[in-house]
Amino acid sequence: MKKSCKSFLDFEFFKRRCEHWKREFNLLDWKTFYEFKELDEAYANVRWDLSGRTAVISLNSSNDEFQDRATFVELLRNIDMSAFHECLHLLYSWYYSILKDINEKHCATMDHQIIRVMENSVFDAMINSEPISPYEQEIQSRNFGMKKKK
Ligand SMILES: [Zn+2]
Repeated sequence: MKKSCKSFLDFEFFKRRCEHWKREFNLLDWKTFYEFKELDEAYANVRWDLSGRTAVISLNSSNDEFQDRATFVELLRNIDMSAFHECLHLLYSWYYSILKDINEKHCATMDHQIIRVMENSVFDAMINSEPISPYEQEIQSRNFGMKKKK
């Protein structure tokens, strides 16, 4: 077994945060399925069908370089940022579907440029506006889970 694979609890946290961002971005009309599996080159990814409003969001289950040196809060924040990132793809999917016919490669680059700006600007502000830190909440719930097992 790899040293620090993401756990099933990490995946549950990822799914909860995706649902949180779907609410924030008014994407609740999207039917979303989740996968927890090894991905080749991504921390997470999303595939979508715009007309059917369905999406499959995947979290990479395997180890990654970041995970080995991250604190638990950093790890949760990274998982959350990925949930934010994939939900933004859904938010922009409508524009993407129009622009990709003009130039798909540029469209994918532009998509990520916008998402990076959002990650570096809006993300922290949105986290800080939550009444309870989602990371503190997660840590508390996991500690409580551990105590219960005694
Ligand atoms: Zn992306």
